[in-house]
Amino acid sequence: MQEQTGNVPVERRRAGDPLLTLVVPVFNEEQTAPHFVETVNRVLGATALRFEILFVEDGSTDRTRERLRALAACHRHVSFIAFSRNFGKEAALTAGIDHARGDVVIPIDVDLQDPPEVIPRFVEKWREGYDVVYGARAGRSSDSYLKKFTATWFYRVFNRLSREQLPPDAGDFRLMDRRVVDALKTLPESNRFMKGLFAWVGFRTVGVPFERLARERGSSKWSYWKLWNFALDGLAGFSTIPLRLWLYIGAVVCLLSFAYAAVIVFRVLMFGVDVPGYASLITLVLFFGGVQLLSLGTIGEYLGRLFNEVKRRPLYIVDEVVGLGQRDVSRRPADAGREVKD
Ligand code: UDP
Ligand code: MG
Repeated sequence: MQEQTGNVPVERRRAGDPLLTLVVPVFNEEQTAPHFVETVNRVLGATALRFEILFVEDGSTDRTRERLRALAACHRHVSFIAFSRNFGKEAALTAGIDHARGDVVIPIDVDLQDPPEVIPRFVEKWREGYDVVYGARAGRSSDSYLKKFTATWFYRVFNRLSREQLPPDAGDFRLMDRRVVDALKTLPESNRFMKGLFAWVGFRTVGVPFERLARERGSSKWSYWKLWNFALDGLAGFSTIPLRLWLYIGAVVCLLSFAYAAVIVFRVLMFGVDVPGYASLITLVLFFGGVQLLSLGTIGEYLGRLFNEVKRRPLYIVDEVVGLGQRDVSRRPADAGREVKD
C-alpha cells in the first residue's frame, strides 16, 4: 500500500517556516467562500504558520466571483484564478497546483468538510520528512449508505486493476511538498483523475486520520451519474486491463466453440442430421451479439480517451487572475488564457 512508507531518516527532517498555499476549488459557493476564509484565518492565524489562500473559481453561475473579488480586496493573502467556464474540480485543482507558489501546497474543499484544524498536523509530518501527507477519513459518517457502498467498491476494483494503489480513505485533502507539486506539473494528460495522479508520482507518503464532517452550507455538486463517470475516467486512465480482458474472454469462447463443434460433428456422423435447436441457436446468437457489443464498447471507451488526449487541448482556460503576480504558468502554447492583474 501507499501509506506509511517506512520511517523517514532523521537527515530528511525539515526545519524552517514554509509558505503554505491552500488551493481551494469553488463552484457556485457564494455562501461558503467568505465563511471559509474566516475560519481558516481564525484556525491558522492562531498558529505560527505562514499561509495564503488560492481560490480557483470554476465558472460559477452565482455571485461567487464577486465574493472572491471582495475577499481578495480586503485580505492580502487571498487570491483567485477564474475560469472562462466550468471545467470541473479536477481541472480546478490542476490550475491551483500550476499557480501555487508555496513551499507546500494543500488542496482543500471550501465547504469545511476538510477541517483546517488538521493542517498543523500535516505540517508536523512534513517537518518529519514526509513529502505527501494525506487526510485519512476516519469515518464516512457524513456520507449516505449508498455513497459508502459505491466508494468501497470503486477502491476495491481500482486497486485490483491498477498498478497505482489508492488508499481508500484518502480524498484530495492533503499536503504536498514543492517537489511533489513540480512532479505533478510535468504530467501532461488531459484525463485529470487527481487521486490517481497523486498516487502515480509517489514520494514518501503518510496518512493523518481526521473526521470528515458534513457540509455546513451550500449543496454538494456531485450526482451519482457524475460519480459514475468520474469512476470510469479513473479506471480507464490508470488501467488497460479492461481492454485485455476481452482477449481472455475471446480465447475461452473460441475454445468452447471448438469443443462444441467437435461434439456436433461427432453427433452428425453417428446419428445423422438433427433439425431442432432453434432455442439454443438464438440464445447463442444473442449472447455473442452482447459480448461483441460490450467489447466494442470497451475499445470505444479507450479510443475516445485517446482522441481526447491527442487533441491536446489545454486543461482549462483562465479568464482572470486576481491577487497573484502576472506570471507565465501556461502548461502549453495553446493555453492562451487571458490573465489580468487587478
Ligand atoms: N467543485 C468545483 N467544480 C465542480 C464541482 C465542485 O470546483 O465542478 C468544488 C466545490 O466548490 C467544492 C469541492 O469541489 O469546493 C468539493 O465539492 P462538493 O463539496 O460539492 O463535493 P463532495 O464534498 O460532496 O464530494
Ligand atoms: Mg463537500
